[in-house]
Amino acid sequence: MLYHSLENYKNLVSFENAVLKGLSPDGGLYVPERIPKLEHQFIHNISNYDIDTIAMNIIKPYIGKSIPEDFIHNIICDTLNFPFPLQKIHDNIHVLELFHGPTLAFKDVGARFMAGCLSYFSKRIGQNVTVLVATSGDTGGAVAQGFHKKPGIEVIILYPYNGISSLQEQQITSLGDNIFSVAINGNFDNCQKMVKKAFLDKKIQKKYLLTSANSINIARWIPQMFYYFLAYRKIKMMGNTKELIFSVPSGNFGNICAGMMAEKMGVPIKLFIASTNINDTIPRFLKYEKYHPLPVKKTISNAMDISDPSNFSRIWNFLYKKNIFQLKQKLFSYQFTDKNTLDTINIVWKKYKYMLDPHGSIGYLGLRKYLQEVKDSSSRIAIFLETAHPIKFIDEIPSSLRGEIIAPDILKKFLSRKVKKQKISLSNDFNVFRDWLLERR
Ligand SMILES: *Cc1c(COP(=O)(O)O)cnc(C)c1O
Repeated sequence: MLYHSLENYKNLVSFENAVLKGLSPDGGLYVPERIPKLEHQFIHNISNYDIDTIAMNIIKPYIGKSIPEDFIHNIICDTLNFPFPLQKIHDNIHVLELFHGPTLAFKDVGARFMAGCLSYFSKRIGQNVTVLVATSGDTGGAVAQGFHKKPGIEVIILYPYNGISSLQEQQITSLGDNIFSVAINGNFDNCQKMVKKAFLDKKIQKKYLLTSANSINIARWIPQMFYYFLAYRKIKMMGNTKELIFSVPSGNFGNICAGMMAEKMGVPIKLFIASTNINDTIPRFLKYEKYHPLPVKKTISNAMDISDPSNFSRIWNFLYKKNIFQLKQKLFSYQFTDKNTLDTINIVWKKYKYMLDPHGSIGYLGLRKYLQEVKDSSSRIAIFLETAHPIKFIDEIPSSLRGEIIAPDILKKFLSRKVKKQKISLSNDFNVFRDWLLERR
């Protein structure tokens, strides 16, 4: 399989190249040249296969000869070694929990998979790779954990000083070894700008083979398809043959975009609901057919505080070829306020004893809203994705409920770690960061 940028369909590159580059030099996101369709028999009998076999079948065509098969298999086993439980909450509404990985959020899967691929490429080309990433919280933790001790790779994470939760900071700064963290005296935008500048700097490029690890990288994006296949497998195992509906709490739209690709590969999904907070560019786009991002607003579901979602261009230009009619049949989108989010956390706990995090709460709300609108709900299996463990966002959860949240064992392990010496603080002046980068080794 080859990849091209959304800006230029003729210039084809290998999986390896697309992963090492992250973003195409022309500024476009990489997409596969075609979407492989899986055999109907395979999808039909999916509950007979184990998880690793399914993941191999999905991912193999996308990697082609860039990585040998036994290596891909190892990467998959490392990536998917925690559970993805599907539970019924009430009626036909189910939750798919994606937070059982080491940093308690769904980004663990993409980060671990990408780390495995990069480590293989670094060895093959005989060069160390430096991953440079700016984070507003969740990405940094997942990347730090996923890339920790991977041979041939070092990771430099920029995060806003005092701008992330103490738990998130702990996840980024306590590993050490090949993970370096830089607290920037500024906000997330400052961090992101510095990273972008570093990628364009000739002197830095000469010294480092730089790559990024945000969700525009295909190695982080594509493995997210697994969730949708695994959910379908579980539904089949429960003896169900009904069509699925997914509601995905969406920020940069990488996760939902992977789901929409899984549907094109053959998973019988009736439609998707992109559930957002008040950063509602996509709900407005589907309603008014105008793409008009507004300044980002802060919310309690802060991993989704994004107003110009990068991956939406993959859905619009690539998966749906700018066909608004077809897109509107497969994609619904609704936005919800912080008040809606908190009220729902309360109600769902009181009625069903299930604790939502703010992102999952928005996913649940999206399902409810859709089901109320269409009214033929009973024949479908409705699933929302719970993208983070509620303890990660405990400060946002109503104080009366905080005592009900049970800390998982992984968290206790993390909290007992000390901040390592690979943590420094810098001002948000790019030249200071640049000097540090050029002098540090
Ligand atoms: C990153 C993140 C999201 C948004 O996912 P996208 O793929 O960017 O749409 C939702 N919830 C949580 C907890 C996240 O960390």
